[in-house]
Amino acid sequence: MHHFVITGARVFNGADSLGIVDVEVADGRIASVAGRRPEGVELIDGTGATLLPGLIDAHTHTDAESLRQALTFGITTELDMLSIPERMNPLRRQVAESSDFADVRSPSIGLTPADGHPHQLRQGEGDPPWPTATRVAEVPAFVEARILEGADYLKVLVEDGHLFGSALPRLAPELVAATVRAAHARDKMVLAHAMTIETAHQVVDAGVDGLTHLFFDRPHDDELIEKIAAAGIFVIPTLTVIASITGEPAGAELARDPRVRPKLTPIWLDNLSGAIATSPPENFGYALEALAALRRAGVDILAGTDAAHLGAPGMAHGASLHGELRLLVSGDFTPLEALRTATSVPARRFGLDDRGRIEPGLRADLTLVTGDPTVTIDDTLSVQRVWRGGVPAPAAN
Ligand SMILES: [Zn+2]
Repeated sequence: MHHFVITGARVFNGADSLGIVDVEVADGRIASVAGRRPEGVELIDGTGATLLPGLIDAHTHTDAESLRQALTFGITTELDMLSIPERMNPLRRQVAESSDFADVRSPSIGLTPADGHPHQLRQGEGDPPWPTATRVAEVPAFVEARILEGADYLKVLVEDGHLFGSALPRLAPELVAATVRAAHARDKMVLAHAMTIETAHQVVDAGVDGLTHLFFDRPHDDELIEKIAAAGIFVIPTLTVIASITGEPAGAELARDPRVRPKLTPIWLDNLSGAIATSPPENFGYALEALAALRRAGVDILAGTDAAHLGAPGMAHGASLHGELRLLVSGDFTPLEALRTATSVPARRFGLDDRGRIEPGLRADLTLVTGDPTVTIDDTLSVQRVWRGGVPAPAAN
């Protein structure tokens, strides 16, 4: 097995900067941090670079190509937020057998009305029929079926479509509450898609564990921020997709970056350069203001992009997580705080106890980048090397 020591690099351990220390990797695990250097093992010179825990994107919709692409950007785990089990379950097996892909977790499909979000975005994807629950009494069976499919957590979607320029049937609040009861009885979290102040209030009142987007239809109210903080709910802002919805050119900027271009196919570069642009630009400011208020209230923030499949413009797996960290810093986060949102915080909130930090005994999911992103967040994109479970990731093509 691979046994090596990364020397000379600054180390960010998921929480803080440790300065320049050795990190020893053996049998896929971190064997020691700042320990005695063993004799006769391979030394990897990290001078001028910073070693980070493998990054975690807490909101994607993924497939094999996407997980492969994400890994080349130093993302070693993607938390999928809705996929079809007919595709996710073979993907899970593929990921378990090969280190060429980022690891993945998924809720399987989410609870939404028969013609609800995101069906309007998935036309042409060839989805098989998609079960739902229309009455409270049907919800326990819906939850149980998702758990049998392998769901790591449950997802509910409360969306009337107006921010996407459409009108959609919206999930009733009592169905959200019933999902929370059934999922919590089975020790599973419930994550909610709610992009407006009104629907965010509803899902928070229903007892969900996390929000998969910021709300940005109008300026936030303090009562909502206080409720989220008091309930210990975490928020995945997904500034990346909100930038796309409001026509901010964040994706296009990333697509011009020479550290991004060689790793993406022309069709993905094109996708990243585009924007959904169905909401007015001032709504992006509402999102940043809500984010700053959540941060002040001490709410756990997790970096996530909503990178999906081709046809969801403004995002690309891997590249966009770096863009998200940049956007978080533009929204008042320090670089150190931003790095935590993509490492130790998502690991803690999703119970991924074996990753997200650089500590002895944890998986050797590691990303080595040139420069010092604890000072200059943009340096996260300068990826030199990536290891998943101690195995070097294949070079990007
Ligand atoms: Zn999503």
